Amino acid sequence: MRLLLVEDDPDLGEALVANLARDGFAVDLAADLATAEAAFATSAYDLLLLDLGLPDGDGVDLLRRLRRRRSTVPVLVLTARDAVEDRVAGLEAGADDYLVKPFAHAELVARIRALLRRPARDLGTTIRVGRLVLEPSTGHTEVDGRTLLLPRRERMLLEVLMRRAGRVVTRRMLEEALWDQDAEIESNTLESHVSRLRRRLQECEAGVNVRSVRGVGYMLEAT
Ligand code: CA
Repeated sequence: MRLLLVEDDPDLGEALVANLARDGFAVDLAADLATAEAAFATSAYDLLLLDLGLPDGDGVDLLRRLRRRRSTVPVLVLTARDAVEDRVAGLEAGADDYLVKPFAHAELVARIRALLRRPARDLGTTIRVGRLVLEPSTGHTEVDGRTLLLPRRERMLLEVLMRRAGRVVTRRMLEEALWDQDAEIESNTLESHVSRLRRRLQECEAGVNVRSVRGVGYMLEAT
């Protein structure tokens, strides 16, 4: 597995490269955005570890450019910024997960492995999480072969969460997926759809749980 680490703190960068090498990852280190872009132009990476505060700009800009170019490389943001707005901005720009510095190396490795295990984002094909199977083209949903009937919004909510299973989905991403831009969304509406969906998933023992990520959004996980 080849990883690109974008980190401008040389001590932290070199320590991470050495530690990750011991866990079996080949890691290239870029100390700024320009070097990172050049590395992407010449090599294929399985995952990007991205610091946000970089000497020639913000890591979020690189992330936006990659997603605009339709890159699906998993991105784990490593940041000292623990403000909720920064995490949300990173996730909305297309990050898959984030880790706030300082972090334990074991946690970093666990997050990397989780992202690498995740199925590739493919928009047309059947999505499976736990015992749940969803067919995006028809909206058909089933658990162990039994059809699961859901109201339209709950089904849309489930699809967005399933596509990003194991990763945090922000409230805004969910609201944008569920409602038109100028729809008036009452602040508790999303919560009520989530709790109804949760109840249905529990009733049919789907093997998944919708976890609340405080101040940020929700994450679907297999139980
Ligand atoms: Ca930095």
